[in-house]
Amino acid sequence: MKTQAIMQQLAAKHPGEAEYLQAVEEVLNSIEEVYNQHPEFEQAKIVERMVEPDRIFTFRVTWVDDAGQVQTNLGYRVQFNSAIGPYKGGLRFHVAVNPSMLKFLGFEQTFKNALTTLPMGGGKGGSDFDPIGKSDAEIMRFCQAFMLELWRCIGPDQDIPAGDVGVGGREIGYLNGMYQKLSRQYHTGVLTGKGMTWGGSILRPEATGYGALYFTQHVLHQAGKDIKGKRIAISGFGNVAWGACKKAVELGAQVIAVSGPDGVCAIENGITPEMIDYMLVMRSSNRNKVQDMADKFPQQAQFIAGKKAWSQKCDIALPCAFQNELSEDDARELVKNGTWCCCEVSNMGCQPGAIHFFQSQKGFLFAPGKAVNAGGVATSGLEMTQNAEHISWTGKEVDERLHHIMESIHEQCVRFGTQKDGTIDYVKGANIAGFMKVAQAMLEQGLV
Ligand code: GLU
Repeated sequence: MKTQAIMQQLAAKHPGEAEYLQAVEEVLNSIEEVYNQHPEFEQAKIVERMVEPDRIFTFRVTWVDDAGQVQTNLGYRVQFNSAIGPYKGGLRFHVAVNPSMLKFLGFEQTFKNALTTLPMGGGKGGSDFDPIGKSDAEIMRFCQAFMLELWRCIGPDQDIPAGDVGVGGREIGYLNGMYQKLSRQYHTGVLTGKGMTWGGSILRPEATGYGALYFTQHVLHQAGKDIKGKRIAISGFGNVAWGACKKAVELGAQVIAVSGPDGVCAIENGITPEMIDYMLVMRSSNRNKVQDMADKFPQQAQFIAGKKAWSQKCDIALPCAFQNELSEDDARELVKNGTWCCCEVSNMGCQPGAIHFFQSQKGFLFAPGKAVNAGGVATSGLEMTQNAEHISWTGKEVDERLHHIMESIHEQCVRFGTQKDGTIDYVKGANIAGFMKVAQAMLEQGLV
């Protein structure tokens, strides 16, 4: 297998699908060497099959806004790979959603889910619907219209969607209500991220952020460091950033910045629990402005318009917002200001140039999203187990399992990513570990 040759073919077949091609190239570069030691993979054309989704559903979503105007959006579900279990992955509602974005996310999800140790294949879906500025009633009508098409594609042993950017507990509620109405199936297992009174798992809302901090702790411990007292810059203020802030503070770190599309809030003395709670209000307002934090807490937070979280002096950078949100210039600025660790929490949050720059800095600790943020989907997997058994575990039980899973993902990265000089390449480690599992499962199940 030659990465460059495969990439040329893929680029010709899928012109303009930049995010998808970026995600595939990153994985193929990591696995090329190992792959070529397995002629049985080459013979079964595992890579050529693995980079294409099993199928994509595309549908029109028509709904009526509060002004009585008819609106039309596009809806998608990408069922990427089911070799190790039913399709599993979130739904993203964002104005920039298109097939390329969902294919990159579905591809990444396949390896991430493999790393969790749970039997889940990879999928992703969503819509170019823009939730910014929408009323609650509009969100409900859109979710219902979206489910009108999606319900035929999903099922508890087939494809289990969840949340992602723009889709949280409220949206999952509206989607689940409509699914039950249409399908007349009243089980709890078709979506994860559900509310606590109707099949949700304790800690699922916090899980991505908590898992990311557990993983960061492992990365630091491995390097002989401790998270206590460290200054952390976080981008975003949505569900993932919220969970990350909560756990960072609990572990004794200081979150000195959160950001949004409008700028950054510098929080010199560290974020407080009241400010973290306020992030939930900011998200449900659908305003998407981090300035609201500084307006509410003028003593603690200073808003700087147009700046990213990466402009702030910190030890650890945690991108928690969107793909490609941290550029090579940002990486250089961070390192210049003394940052020595970046754990990607958003999916593909760092641009390739940023990753290469971080990795070129001696002693810099970098870990990729598919390992760092896997706690979210892992806890979705735990929610599925509880639903299938018709029971609910305690918070302690879920947290222990999440801890254990993140530890196991870290171990897999160390196993497959330890270099000759003893350093750990977490990108390589995560990609090879995830790939080997999916490739083996595909090989054993024949040409399907
Ligand atoms: N959207 C999340 C992710 O990127 C969670 C997916 C899920 O829980 O299925 O992994």
